[in-house]
Amino acid sequence: MLNYKIILMGSGGVGKSALTQRFISGNFVEAYDPTIEDCYQKTININDETCKLEILDTAGTEQFSSMRDVYIKSGDAFVIVYSINSTSTFNDISSIIEQINSIKDSDPAPIIIVGNKSDLDDEREVDEELGQTLAKSTHSSFIEASAKLNSNVNEIFYDLLRQLANKRKSM
Ligand code: GDP
Ligand code: MG
Repeated sequence: MLNYKIILMGSGGVGKSALTQRFISGNFVEAYDPTIEDCYQKTININDETCKLEILDTAGTEQFSSMRDVYIKSGDAFVIVYSINSTSTFNDISSIIEQINSIKDSDPAPIIIVGNKSDLDDEREVDEELGQTLAKSTHSSFIEASAKLNSNVNEIFYDLLRQLANKRKSM
């Protein structure tokens, strides 16, 4: 059985927990305790193969980036989240991606950049093109999603599984 560990990262309040809860339980959790960092499991079938996903919803409370190193090392693929109504959360993600790529240097890990809260288009601060450009320059995937409206949430995880399958084939 395939077994993958997927890590969600990004600034506080961007919707990491909302996306995780939506994917795991199917519901939108409006106010999830921002200090809870937990690991969830979901088994899915893809192309006749059973795949066990372990999903770590980080809380970003670690004081030192060296503590981030520990869970980056343990991850097979990464969901890097910002929210489209906050430029500062977008600016925060470059250094996270750099950290992942430097740690996974010899064995690059699939990454998807997620612009969450796409339902808040009237408050938009980050153009979709900015996300796309960053994804291109970092060899990541990109998608805008809404945990609230359940838009493109499953697609996030299926994209990573596709990237992981391609990586396996090329080994
Ligand atoms: P985290 O700190 O990254 O885990 O963020 P949370 O999942 O706790 O979400 C922070 C806040 O944003 C909460 O008030 C959520 O209800 C809200 N939120 C999360 N996802 C969405 C979304 O897709 N659309 C909207 N409008 N609000 C969202
Ligand atoms: Mg959270």
